[in-house]
Amino acid sequence: MRIDLHTHSTASDGTDSPAELVANAAAAGLDALAITDHDTTAGWAQAQAALPPGLRLVRGAELSCVSADGRGGHCTVHLLAYLFDPDSDTVVREYARARAERRGRLAKIADLMAADGFPIDAESLLAAVPEEATAGRPHLAMALMRAGVVSSVDEAFAKFLNDRGRYYLPSSRTPIEDSIEMIDRAGGVTVLAHAFAAHRGPTVTAEVIKELAGVGLTGVEVDHPDHDDDARDRLRRLADELGLLTTGSSDYHGTNKVIRLGQETTAPAMLDEIARRATGVEIVAG
Ligand code: AMP
Ligand code: FE
Ligand code: FE
Ligand code: ZN
Repeated sequence: MRIDLHTHSTASDGTDSPAELVANAAAAGLDALAITDHDTTAGWAQAQAALPPGLRLVRGAELSCVSADGRGGHCTVHLLAYLFDPDSDTVVREYARARAERRGRLAKIADLMAADGFPIDAESLLAAVPEEATAGRPHLAMALMRAGVVSSVDEAFAKFLNDRGRYYLPSSRTPIEDSIEMIDRAGGVTVLAHAFAAHRGPTVTAEVIKELAGVGLTGVEVDHPDHDDDARDRLRRLADELGLLTTGSSDYHGTNKVIRLGQETTAPAMLDEIARRATGVEIVAG
């Protein structure tokens, strides 16, 4: 049983359409796949309609939030949300707000780069991202690639777009506690994504995760391509201590990242537990 619980489609910053994503998941030998686009459920219907026989689909999303970092400051954190009711008023409103804010933020980053002489135009950049899709830095990275400024998305992040870079602006100011509560109310289950991925930027301490467990966080993503062995060990021990579920996922983005579907996987018992606790929507099978 191979289960991958964190992937992106063209509904946010992946390069596979939702239909291609589920087809590729089946081709990669996966038994279950979660679609977790940033701040949207726009890919759910298309993924479900295209489900190949035998593949189970866990409908989800990844929310950008802000958290206390446990060191006196704040940092951006990503929250995976599974099997929540996508029609919950609060969820619909929050996602619409987050997507609008992200468009404004990406335009600001593009304007900063244009002011420094880069051949980037905020208006045409955003015109290329459909209204119902979520705009993110990878869209800008791809535009820089098309303009010949960089030769890959990774290079664009390494040189200009990473969280410590000159052009970085955060994408959200929604406190993670509010997001956990919102998804909980909508019948979903929450898992903290790549919590100890230090090379991405500042991360939270174990103490913060303990507090989040206290307000309803259900699990932590332990096996993630951006976690080294030490990060995985510390998260696994912490999850044990706090009674949190543990997951493993690829965080596949299509050709935007050199990561394969199913590169990291989740134990079947963990997915069973997620499904058991969720009351929003069910896992669907092709
Ligand atoms: P944003 O949601 O706009 O803050 O951008 C974050 C997204 O950028 C992540 O979800 C990844 O898709 C992508 N990303 C972050 N760091 C890198 C990197 N070093 N190389 C390629 N893509 C990255
Ligand atoms: Fe992404
Ligand atoms: Fe993420
Ligand atoms: Zn992701």
